[in-house]
Amino acid sequence: MPHALTAPRPEAPSVAIVGAGLSGATCAAALQRAGFRVTVFDKSRGVGGRMASRRVRWTSDAGEAHVAALDHGTHHFLAEQPRFRSMIASAEAAGCVESWRPEVHSVWPGAAPLGFVAVPCMPALCKHVLAGLPVRPLQQVMRLRRDAEGWHLQMLEGDSAGPFDQVVLALPAPQAASLIASHADGWAETLAAVPMASCWTLMAVTDDVDWPWDAAVPPNDPLAWVSRNDRKPGRDALPGFATWVAHASAEWSASHLEDDPQQVEAELRAALSTLIPNAQQVQWHHAGVHRWRYAAPLHGGLDERGCWWDARLGVGLCGDFFGNGTVEAAWHSGDELADTMVAEIEAGGEFTLPFLDLVR
Ligand SMILES: Cc1cc2nc3c(=O)[nH]c(=O)nc-3n(C[C@H](O)[C@H](O)[C@H](O)COP(=O)(O)OP(=O)(O)OC[C@H]3O[C@@H](n4cnc5c(N)ncnc54)[C@H](O)[C@@H]3O)c2cc1C
Repeated sequence: MPHALTAPRPEAPSVAIVGAGLSGATCAAALQRAGFRVTVFDKSRGVGGRMASRRVRWTSDAGEAHVAALDHGTHHFLAEQPRFRSMIASAEAAGCVESWRPEVHSVWPGAAPLGFVAVPCMPALCKHVLAGLPVRPLQQVMRLRRDAEGWHLQMLEGDSAGPFDQVVLALPAPQAASLIASHADGWAETLAAVPMASCWTLMAVTDDVDWPWDAAVPPNDPLAWVSRNDRKPGRDALPGFATWVAHASAEWSASHLEDDPQQVEAELRAALSTLIPNAQQVQWHHAGVHRWRYAAPLHGGLDERGCWWDARLGVGLCGDFFGNGTVEAAWHSGDELADTMVAEIEAGGEFTLPFLDLVR
């Protein structure tokens, strides 16, 4: 965690953070604590990035309307390093994370590693981290422009934001590559080459079924992981219903990436049905699919520094791809980048605009 500067100062750097997933949220919160003037932008309606939930609605045979939030991105995560464990412990104390050791069908009978989920749904952790910070949702950054005043963000809708002294890109590597391309060719080339796994995900609601597990790791394609969402801690009880999230394997998803979503849904439903006892008698109340084009880096560990920072340009990069493509890696990367940016200010004394050489 960065040390706080003496006090927030008007001349402290202004920073645009692009991406409100856990890496961006962590970096933003740490910089704000250190006195930087931070604004967070995200293209989505809410925060959390791939720690995502989708609200699904259905009507029972009795005509009652129901709604549940299904975690269609990260299903749960581990906390292995002491610094992340301590952050998760404080999030647990704040009531937005709970531990979860799922009973997993077929791999670790009764002994899955201790994991965690955000409650009541996955975005809650990023919401907690970002509490009180200025977050601008529904802002898809299409282009970064730099002039003598600083960085300007050009949005999809045509409007722009800025100037900012510094920019942090907290995005999956290929998305960061396209934004940084005209400013740092070398970075863009490396980022664009990071191989990403995609993932088709089925979200479904069925009648409740006698299924003794919390999750399953099916041995064969198409499915790689299935969660009973309603069995996770902190989720609303839904008497009479079972809610499911089923992720296809990276290989299957890659070979069906451009398929018709209805066809994908039918195939994933059929695969999930094979795991449900007496599936023919079970009624489906809802089904839908989501395609994650960039679900996770195929091989993590882009750079052991954990982030990139170019003081001359005033640009930083963080994200799960610097580590092993997990929630924990995303947190470490965002924290590391904030540390690096704060250390630079502390070492240099007064903040100086990185653009002075452009102005002269
Ligand atoms: C299906 C699935 C299953 C997973 N399972 C696990 C698991 O079991 N355990 C685990 O630890 N991890 C898992 N992960 C990975 C985990 O979710 C990620 O490692 C982590 O959430 C990445 O955080 P991040 O901040 O690096 O990126 P992200 O969460 O992707 O955040 C990037 C943000 O940038 C925004 N954005 C993108 N482009 C723009 C733009 N141009 N302008 C503005 N905003 C933009 C996005 O909307 C997003 O909010 C899973 C991911 C998926 C998809």
